Amino acid sequence: MNNKEIIDLAAQYLTPNYNRQPVALVKGKGAAVWDADGKKYLDFVSGLAVTGLGHANAGLNKAIARQLSLLTHTSNLYYTEPQALFARDLRAFMPRKGRVFFCNSGTEANEAALKLARKFSIEKFAKDRIEIIAFSGGFHGRSMGSLSMTADAKYRDGFGPLLPGVKHVPYGDADAAAKAVTKKTCAIIVEPLQGENGVQTPKAGFIQKLARLCAEKKLLLIFDEVQTGFGRTGKMFAFEHFNVKPDIVTMAKGIAGGLPMGAMYARDDVAALLTPGSHAATFGGNPAVCAAALATFEELKKPGFLENVAEMGRYLLLKLTSLKTSIPAIREVRGMGLMVGLELIFPCAPAVEKCRELGLLINCAQEKTLRFLPPLTITKAEVDRAVGIVTKALGGR
Ligand SMILES: *Cc1c(COP(=O)(O)O)cnc(C)c1O
Repeated sequence: MNNKEIIDLAAQYLTPNYNRQPVALVKGKGAAVWDADGKKYLDFVSGLAVTGLGHANAGLNKAIARQLSLLTHTSNLYYTEPQALFARDLRAFMPRKGRVFFCNSGTEANEAALKLARKFSIEKFAKDRIEIIAFSGGFHGRSMGSLSMTADAKYRDGFGPLLPGVKHVPYGDADAAAKAVTKKTCAIIVEPLQGENGVQTPKAGFIQKLARLCAEKKLLLIFDEVQTGFGRTGKMFAFEHFNVKPDIVTMAKGIAGGLPMGAMYARDDVAALLTPGSHAATFGGNPAVCAAALATFEELKKPGFLENVAEMGRYLLLKLTSLKTSIPAIREVRGMGLMVGLELIFPCAPAVEKCRELGLLINCAQEKTLRFLPPLTITKAEVDRAVGIVTKALGGR
């Protein structure tokens, strides 16, 4: 089937909830993907910060194929070796001694965190200590609990009533967060870097102040690292940049190199409350995705891998920043590692289209920010090529 045939077919049968680009992708290799008409693109979306090792990574595919030949799925009525091994390996990178719960997506990881935070607070403190503080511009997912913690009306409208007990305060304003704390507050959830909100980096000191506030008021600090985790910002996890220790870390996107997986990690005394029967996920951490996660993690841990992510990130940021002199429509360039946003003074949808025509896949986060999420294995030459296309698409030189 060609692009048009696939698109026409899909349009008849799929719910219309996605604003899709008019291409059907059929294969990939590294940072390249091909559509059904045979056109090649440089992929600076990575399936939304998911395929960190690029497409068709040989080691990853071998690990998945090997596991599929043995056992794909078991449910959590039984133990499996890949799950136990990945849980152990993950713990070495977590901020505190704790335990992990596996699920299938970012929103599920945040649901688990929300349920656990409430259970912990209710059992250790008081029955009505259930309020959560979250931030404007934050994105935590689409299921009802995660949606309730997500502030933006464009995600929430039409789905109410949402969960009571969630307060939203401005991202970057630790004083507002402190003022919002009451006797009923149990946790603060924050993205160390906001992804969907157009790659917003936190103000200096903000994250550290939140950590101090949580310690002082005995609140659980939940880091939503669904987008920032697994090397995306140039460290394995973004909390490492700020020298803070969240009590709970939620993860998904890049965790298994492209297979659907999520995880919620909590410090030991908190995790202990997830008692038998209190929470579950049928597919959670099945051997197939855990084999993928193990293989992905092995790559990310190799000497120099994360340093290279940081270096390519700095290079990309520098190159985009230097475009500001010749392209006045650029308002700001920001980011960490290979999570970079270029904000324009007008909507970026036409630029996304132009880039696609010129052979670059990139997306728009918020209305005006071009978001760069290349594979973590991106090379300097590929960054040069992408920046060249973006320059052309924005009418620069
Ligand atoms: C993408 C994202 C989510 C939601 O993940 P899904 O897998 O789509 O449910 C949650 N939080 C953050 C920070 C995200 O970027």
